[in-house]
Amino acid sequence: MRELVIIGGGPAGMSAAIAAYESGVTDILIMERDARLGGILQQCIHNGFGLHRFGEELTGPEYAWRYEERVQALGIEVKCNTMVLDVTADKVITATNAEEGVFQIRAKAVILAMGCRERAKGSLAIAGSRPAGIYSAGTAQKLVNMKGYLPGKNVVILGSGDIGLIMARRMTLEGAKVHAVCELMPYSGGLARNIQQCLNDFDIPLLLSHTVVEIHGKERVEAVTIAKVDQNRRPIPETKQTIPCDTLLLSVGLIPENELSQGAAVDISAITKGPVVDQDRQTSVEGVFACGNVLHVHDLVDFVSEEAAIAGQAAAQYIQNTRQNAICIPLYTDGKVRYTVPQIITEQKDTSVYFRVSDVYKNVCVTVKDGDHVLLKKKRPKVAPGEMESIRLKAEWLDGVEALTLSLEEC
Ligand SMILES: Cc1cc2nc3c(=O)[nH]c(=O)nc-3n(C[C@H](O)[C@H](O)[C@H](O)COP(=O)(O)OP(=O)(O)OC[C@H]3O[C@@H](n4cnc5c(N)ncnc54)[C@H](O)[C@@H]3O)c2cc1C
Repeated sequence: MRELVIIGGGPAGMSAAIAAYESGVTDILIMERDARLGGILQQCIHNGFGLHRFGEELTGPEYAWRYEERVQALGIEVKCNTMVLDVTADKVITATNAEEGVFQIRAKAVILAMGCRERAKGSLAIAGSRPAGIYSAGTAQKLVNMKGYLPGKNVVILGSGDIGLIMARRMTLEGAKVHAVCELMPYSGGLARNIQQCLNDFDIPLLLSHTVVEIHGKERVEAVTIAKVDQNRRPIPETKQTIPCDTLLLSVGLIPENELSQGAAVDISAITKGPVVDQDRQTSVEGVFACGNVLHVHDLVDFVSEEAAIAGQAAAQYIQNTRQNAICIPLYTDGKVRYTVPQIITEQKDTSVYFRVSDVYKNVCVTVKDGDHVLLKKKRPKVAPGEMESIRLKAEWLDGVEALTLSLEEC
């Protein structure tokens, strides 16, 4: 029996391991399917990581190394090249690697930190055959940054999530021509700073309310037809235009890697597609915690590390039997706020609540209410789905509260 097993050795898994160790639990095992620690950061060679955490602009591998170095210094055990196949609610982990074959480990506590994967959904409704030259933006990033291949020279990008924006710049720097980034929604799904630094600075057009309606080419992509969409996101035929290109990159969203979470029988949120958690990131199964992109997709790795430290510390407290879960306050949203993490509060202490909104709203007040009683009202000049927001709840506000609602109201 191990005390703590962490599944996934990305920034979330490493930060959780360090926090658990520093909270007094030293019997920790990180299991990582890749050949080394670091997760998706290893392929993110651009800078922009660590501004909040370290007050510095690091590249992805540099940011990861700060944590890997600490994991090594603490002597935390890591099994790389090890794929976890299953986790049960009573914390039996089944995994496989080349040395041990298929094996099982029982743990007192488990932290799920498997990250997320790219959605492929956006490609399915596009007319045309499936010639070579269609990649997810993350796959193209891996090919360019880790394998040294340029997937194409004339590029159209569908979707304006952060990976798409970053790849627009990356492909341009490598000598490709990025003709346009098409976004179905009337707003970008990416960070404002990425639109400026990755598109505007390189004169790459962002076509909002546009989509790709047809892919041309048999062996290799030869062109794509794009069109503006109406309010119901239906293409407007008279706005169609064909752009010759050899590559279409898809950046149509990320989704938590939640197969193992489902196997562990934790409640999954229909909105985040990750586990439902309390303020300490404990799931609906006692002793099973989740953090990072497997819980909900983050914009910035700094907040992944922060969240994972909360999970690591709480997992240590669970192992040491010092967790106090005396209350049960659900957090509801009004629809304009799409979701919150956590979704439930089980301990009366100061708690940060992270949330995303469902549309772009200007000059609104983020409001937290207990029934009709307003606990917090904070003005925001602008909120957008692509930017994660947070508010801080104070422990003393939670006295006698049965449920909280987070909403956006007129100020
Ligand atoms: C293209 C891109 C650009 C980004 N740019 C920025 C930026 O500029 N600034 C910024 O702050 N943030 C950026 N981010 C966000 C940041 O990189 C992520 O938020 C962060 O890496 C998420 O950490 P994680 O540990 O949750 O997931 P990951 O980094 O994905 O790590 C999860 C790990 O779990 C492992 N794993 C999964 N399943 C299993 C299994 N069954 N068994 C064993 N191991 C498993 C995976 O191999 C992986 O190593 C970017 C992300 C992407 C994808």
